Formats: sequence, C-alpha cells, structure tokens
Amino acid sequence: MIKVYEDFDITLVGHYQSVLESNDIATFMKNQFGTSGAGELPFVEVIPQLFILNEADAKRAKALIKQLDNPENRVEQKAWQCPECQTPQEAAFTHCWKCSAARPTIDG
Ligand SMILES: [Zn+2]
Repeated sequence: MIKVYEDFDITLVGHYQSVLESNDIATFMKNQFGTSGAGELPFVEVIPQLFILNEADAKRAKALIKQLDNPENRVEQKAWQCPECQTPQEAAFTHCWKCSAARPTIDG
C-alpha cells in the first residue's frame, strides 16, 4: 500500500477516497475511526490516512489529489447532475458513480 494523503479533516480524506474510487483506483483508509483518541495518542496514530492498494495507480492518484488540493480548481468545480439517470454528482467526479455516464461538458 502507498499513502497518498492524510489530513485531520476526515470528510476531506473521505472525499478524496470517493474521487479515487470513482476513477477505478482501489483505496484503503486508515485511522478512519481513530479521531476520538486525539490528544492521548501520538499524532501519526490518529490522523486519517488514505492509501492506494496498487502501486501502478500511484501516479494517477497523486495527480488527482494534487488537482483536488488546488483551491483554484476547487472554485471552478461545481456539483452536477447525471444527464442519463439524474443522480446528483460530486463536483470532482468525471463520471456518474451510478451509471458511469460521462460528465457533460460545461458550456457557460
Ligand atoms: Zn448516471
């Protein structure tokens, strides 16, 4: 396993995990339920960490996270709705998580 991200904000780590999974990258989150122990346990023991299972995905995973981590990109990204099945989608997803339809291009 390769660690690709860590942050005390569990929702952010979880969000990144969803994005990687939606891009067919197998992930594993460590310390997902460990935050209640903060203050008693060493820093590294409780911070939520996102791992990928396959080394072959490392480059792609890091590129995706780097993109997500950029505030400029975050502002431009908007939540969208699948044109095929009308399911609401996270802004970072490039394909519908339900039916795999491609995200429609944004035209204004
Ligand atoms: Zn869909």
